[in-house]
This record gives sequence, C-alpha cells and structure tokens, in this order.
Amino acid sequence: MNKAYRIGKIIGIPIKIDISFLIVLPLFAWIFSSQTEPFGFAGIQSEIIKYTLSLLTAILLFASVLVHELAHSYFTLRFGGSIKEIRLHLLGGVAAMKKEVHEPLKVITIVAAGPVSSIIMGVLLLFLSFKLNPVSIIDGNSLFLVFFILGYVNIFLGIFNLIPAFPMDGGRILRAFLSTRMDYVKATEKAVLIGKIFAVLMAILGLFTDIWLLLIALYIYGNANREEQMVKMRYTRY
Ligand SMILES: [Zn+2]
Repeated sequence: MNKAYRIGKIIGIPIKIDISFLIVLPLFAWIFSSQTEPFGFAGIQSEIIKYTLSLLTAILLFASVLVHELAHSYFTLRFGGSIKEIRLHLLGGVAAMKKEVHEPLKVITIVAAGPVSSIIMGVLLLFLSFKLNPVSIIDGNSLFLVFFILGYVNIFLGIFNLIPAFPMDGGRILRAFLSTRMDYVKATEKAVLIGKIFAVLMAILGLFTDIWLLLIALYIYGNANREEQMVKMRYTRY
C-alpha cells in the first residue's frame, strides 16, 4: 500500500517518493494546464509548451515541498536529532524522525524553519517572476508564470502551515511554546483544543464565504485528535 521509491540522498537523508505521488503529479500538471493566467497556462496556444510548463511547475512545486522538509531536517540534525527519511506523498512531505529533539526552543526553531523557508522561497520566486518582466503570455514569454505560480503557492503554503492547529507546523510551534510551562501531554491537549476551536471558527467562516475554507477546517478538525492519541499512547507506557 505505502510503497515508496528512493530517489536520492541529501545531507545524508534518504529521499523517497510515495506511490501516491505518481498519481498527484499528473493531476497537478493538469490543474496548471487548465487554469488561466496568472495561475496556469491555459492561455498558451502551443499544446506542447502548455503541458511542458505545467508538468515543470508541478515537479518544481514538489521540489519546494522537499526544501521545506529539508529545512526542518537541517535544524533537527544540528540540534542532535536524526532523520530516518523524507517522504513525498499525496499531500506534501514528511520528515520521519529517528531521534527527536525535545527542548522547546530548539523544537520551535526546527518547526518554524519549514514555513519560514517556504515564505522566503516564495518571496524570491515572486521577485524573480517580476524581474523576468512579462510582456504577454501569448508572446511565448511564459516562463515568468512558472516562477509566479511557485512563488504564490510557496507563500500560501508557508502561511497555511503556521495555522496553530495539528497537523500543521503552527500546531507544533504552539505545543512547544506551551510545553515551556506544562508537561508535554498537557501541552499537547491544550494545543489540540486550541486547534479545534480554530477549526470550528474557520468552518463557520467557510460556511458563509468559501467552501474550501470549510473543507480545510474539517481536515484540521479530523486530524486534531490523532496527535493527542499518539502522544498519550507513547507517554502512558512509561
Ligand atoms: Zn513543515
């Protein structure tokens, strides 16, 4: 079921792609090919250029998810932890820890490094896209769109990951912050509760504004308990 292929090794960490990734890559390429400017390449006449740029954007999007995970991993290694592997899958990436770091301040640095790297990458990519100074997509000068889309999505991913709810990075930052004042299980419970309140508020807002917001809220709510159960299971054993 969870078959993964190893594609390489960076800073000593094996990089693997999940089989689900092979389904989602063409799907993303298709989405980019069907969206109009500036979020896609639908306006390009030449089919071959349209699909090549769409596929390139999809591949680079996952490469930037990899950079996000590598940022988490780099600081994990620096603070004495170790990473078993980084796996790219359907919904992004996961860096699987072998040896965890526990000091709250170090945890905050490790977790924040991901979204911060996404936002920095996003800003640089947007800057690059404006530097390429687009005349018009019809002129075949459409490489800037690749940078624009990647820049935009990376900034979105960075900010989205800062939402203070599990399974987002923001939830982990919140727990690390809380764990400076209480024990780890209590901090997890509290962070889960705050995440749930956040998800409910988002769902209510989504009901009146955007259906996507509602779906994201449901996803966050559904994942909230999982982290709590995992932590409780692990810590009641001792
Ligand atoms: Zn992250």
